[in-house]
Amino acid sequence: MSDLPTQPVSFTALGLSVPLLRAVAERNYSTPTAIQTATIPTILRGGDVWASAQTGSGKTAAFALPLLQLLSAGVRPPGRLARALILVPTRELAAQIGESIRRYARFLPRPLKSLVVYGGVSINPQMMALGGGADILVATPGRLLDLIDHNAVSLSAASFLVLDEADRLFDLGFAAELGRILPLLPEHRQSLLFSATFPPAVESLATAVLRAPTRIDIPVVPTTQPDIVQRAIEVDAPRRTQLLRHLIETQKWPSVLVFVATKYATEHVADKLRRAGLTAAALHGELSQGARTEALADFKAGRVQVLLATDLAARGLDIARLPVVVNFDLPRSAVDYTHRIGRTGRAGETGTAINFISAETHAHFRLIEKRHRLTIAREQIEGFEPVATEVPAPATGGIKGKRKSKKDRLREAAGGGQPPPI
Ligand code: AMP
Repeated sequence: MSDLPTQPVSFTALGLSVPLLRAVAERNYSTPTAIQTATIPTILRGGDVWASAQTGSGKTAAFALPLLQLLSAGVRPPGRLARALILVPTRELAAQIGESIRRYARFLPRPLKSLVVYGGVSINPQMMALGGGADILVATPGRLLDLIDHNAVSLSAASFLVLDEADRLFDLGFAAELGRILPLLPEHRQSLLFSATFPPAVESLATAVLRAPTRIDIPVVPTTQPDIVQRAIEVDAPRRTQLLRHLIETQKWPSVLVFVATKYATEHVADKLRRAGLTAAALHGELSQGARTEALADFKAGRVQVLLATDLAARGLDIARLPVVVNFDLPRSAVDYTHRIGRTGRAGETGTAINFISAETHAHFRLIEKRHRLTIAREQIEGFEPVATEVPAPATGGIKGKRKSKKDRLREAAGGGQPPPI
C-alpha cells in the first residue's frame, strides 16, 4: 500500500508536462487531491494501480492526466485500434469522463482523439467516429461489445486499460461482458482499477487484471470534501414532499438533488413540486438518453431547481457546487449513502446532506449510522413534527403465519429493508 503524503504537494512536483499543468491551472485546481498525489507518479512510471476511491475524490484527473501524458509520447497506429480503453458502468459517467479528458487535453501540442461510446443511442455515428481508431475510448461494456462485434474497433493494440467504478460494473450486472472484453486486450499493457468498495468479485478482477499493482487506499469519505454537514430530520412519510418544499423555500437553496427509491417517486414528487410552483425534473434509468441529458443539463444550468433521482441514475454525476442533497427515501446500503452524500461538498466546497427519517425507517437509518460510525442528531422542524411512532424492526423469521416473499428475502440480503414507498 502506498503511503499517503502528509504535506500537500504541487501538481508540478508530480511530474506532469507543461500543457497538462496549464489545463490544471485553467480548471483552478491549486493542489492535487490525495488520490492524485498517490497515483499520478506511479502511473507516469508505467505501474499498475489498484485504488480504492470514489467519485468526488478527484479520481478522474488522477488517471486522465498521466494517461494523456503517456499517450502524447506515442502515435496512433493505423486501423481501427484503440490505444487506451476506459471502461465505466454508466453512460453519465462515460460522458463526464469524456468531458474531463477533453478539458485536460486542451493544450497538448498534438491533439489526441478521444471518443465516448455508450448504449441507448444510435450505434452508427459511433461506428463512423471510430474510423481511424482512437487514442482514448471511454465506453460502457455492452456498447463496446456491440462495436467490437461490428468490427468497428479492435482492442488488440490497447496498451492502457482503466476500469472505473469497478464495483458498479458488477452491481449493474456486467460480469459476463467483462469476461468477454478483457481477453481481447493484449497481455502487455498498463492497467488501473478504481473502485469505491472491494467485494470478492472486484478483488478477483483486480487480481486477474493487474500486475504488481501499487495499492492506494483513500478513506471512505473523500479527503477533498471534509465539510459535509449531515442532518437527520424526523417527519411522517406522507408529509415529506411538503417538508421538502418548506425547506427549499425557507433555506433558499438554489439547487437541490433529491434521492428517492423508485422511478415512480421521481416523477410523482417532481410533479407535486411543479404543481406547487417550483421547477423540478425527474432523472431515472427508464428515461431516454435524450431526456436524461436534458434533465441534467437543465439542472446544471439552473433552469431546474430540484432534481429527483434514483441511485442508478445519479451514479457518478458530477455537478459542480451542489449545496444540498436530500435523502427523501433512505439509501438501501451504507455504500449508497456514501455515494449519495458525495454529490455535495465537491472538491473542497461545503455541502449539506439531509436525511428524512420516518417511523418506518428509524431502524434502517441507525444501521447506516452504525456502518459509518456516525451519530447524527435527530431534528424536528416546527409544523412538521411527526405523529407516527417508530415501527419496530421485524423479528427474525418475519410475521407469524406469513411467509417472506422472494423480494423480502432479496431486500434483507441487500442489507436492511427497503424504505417504504411514498
Ligand atoms: P472526480 O472524483 O473525478 O469525479 O472529481 C470530482 C470533482 O473534483 C470534479 O468536479 C473535478 O473537476 C474536481 N477536482 C479534481 N481534482 C481537483 C483538484 N486537485 N482541486 C480541485 N478540484 C478538483
